[in-house]
Amino acid sequence: MKCIICEQRKAKRYCPAKRRSICPVCCGEKRGVEINCPLDCPYYVEGQKYQQEKITRQRLKKEGVQPYIRRAELYNKNPEIFAKIELALATLFRMDGKLTNGEVAEALELVIKTLDTEKKGILYEYRSENRIVNELSGRVLDILREYTDRTQVGQGRVSLDYARDVVEEFLKEIRFYIEMDSNPQSYLIHVSRYHPEKSGATQGGGSLIMSP
Ligand SMILES: [Zn+2]
Repeated sequence: MKCIICEQRKAKRYCPAKRRSICPVCCGEKRGVEINCPLDCPYYVEGQKYQQEKITRQRLKKEGVQPYIRRAELYNKNPEIFAKIELALATLFRMDGKLTNGEVAEALELVIKTLDTEKKGILYEYRSENRIVNELSGRVLDILREYTDRTQVGQGRVSLDYARDVVEEFLKEIRFYIEMDSNPQSYLIHVSRYHPEKSGATQGGGSLIMSP
């Protein structure tokens, strides 16, 4: 029996999303991105685990343990912000399949510049020539403002410095992907897999990416 996606290779895996059998190559390449995998598919779960372990190993080897501790500290302060930014990236990637890691990096650089200016008391939003970059930086800024503008610390208000640190953290991770992976969308694929299409809206509570 042939894979129903590529119609070339042997179908060896039952795909619960397609309700048919597909080949391991299509499963590996498209799961969580083009295929809307249910979260309990064993191939999906295994694939996530493998991918995350691989990246963690590579990054630990390159940067040591310090960036991880720092990221965990930032994350624990406000997991919601991390999850919302990830979700915004995944959502935009689904809307515009051409979005690249480089464009995300550019958008986040704009956000940082904007926050730095704001710290000096000037409200100015840095823009790019690229429409999708502007869209993304606007969305990330909206998410951050939701928290920096809250009146009370107890309600999850964060400082501009914290907001900047979070964006910096994302930027470092994306740059790592840009450097290590020749696929120009690798980071976006990675993030999208943690925010599957249908359950995306209900996943705001926490980012699964932080789990080791
Ligand atoms: Zn196939």
